[in-house]
Amino acid sequence: MNQFDMEYFKLSIIKMASMVEAERDYLTSLDSDIGDGDHGINLSIGFREVTKQFETFDFENENLTTLFKKVGMALLGKVGGASGPLYGSFFMKFGVPANSARDVDFCTFVEMFSTGVEAIQMRGKAELGDKTMLDALLPAKDYLNQQKTSKDIKKTLEETIAIMKKGAESTEPLIAKKGRAMRLGERAIGHRDPGSESSWKLFECFLKALK
Ligand code: ADP
Ligand code: MG
Repeated sequence: MNQFDMEYFKLSIIKMASMVEAERDYLTSLDSDIGDGDHGINLSIGFREVTKQFETFDFENENLTTLFKKVGMALLGKVGGASGPLYGSFFMKFGVPANSARDVDFCTFVEMFSTGVEAIQMRGKAELGDKTMLDALLPAKDYLNQQKTSKDIKKTLEETIAIMKKGAESTEPLIAKKGRAMRLGERAIGHRDPGSESSWKLFECFLKALK
C-alpha cells in the first residue's frame, strides 16, 4: 500500500481546515491591503463546509477521485470570492489522476498536484508574475515534476515549500495583472498577494500529514 492513501489525504484536508482557522485574520489582513479583505473569511467558509461534508463521506468505500470531487464541489459551491472557484477547480482536478484508486505513489501525487495547478491556470488565465497564487504554485509544480522519483519525499516537500514561500515573497514588488488588486495599479507594490500566501500554507499541510 502506498503512503498517500485515504487516511493521509483526509488528515491533510483536516490540517488545511485548521490552518485556515488559525490564519484567517492574517490572510484577511493581506487581502485588506490590496483586495477587499475577505480571503481568510472565504477560505474559512469553504473549509468549514468541507469538514462538515466529511461527516457523511464514506471513507471506507469511496476513493481519492470521489473524495477530491467532493472537496472541490464544496469549495466551488460555498465560496463567493475568486479563491473559491480557483481552489475548488484545483481539488476537482486533483483527484482525477488518482483514477478512482484509494492510494497513490509519490509520482501520481505529483501528477495530481500538476493537474490541479493547471486547472487554476485554465480557470483564472493568469501567468507567472501576474501577482496571484500561481506565483507560488507554478514554481512548485515545476520543482515537483523534476523530483517525481525522489526517494526522500519529506525533504522534497520541504524544498517545495521553501520555493513556494519565495514565490509568495516575489509577488511583493509586482503590479497585479489579475484579480481585484489589478485596480490598484502601482499602489499594489510592496504588498504580498494573499492567495500566494494561502497556497504555500495549504501545501504545507501535505508535509504535516506525512507519517
Ligand atoms: P476575491 O478576490 O474575489 O475577494 P479572495 O480574496 O478569496 O477572492 O482571493 C483573492 C486571491 O485570489 C488573490 O490573492 C489571488 O491570489 C487569487 N486570484 C484572483 N484572481 C486570480 C486569477 N485570475 N488567477 C489566479 N489567482 C487569482
Ligand atoms: Mg478578497
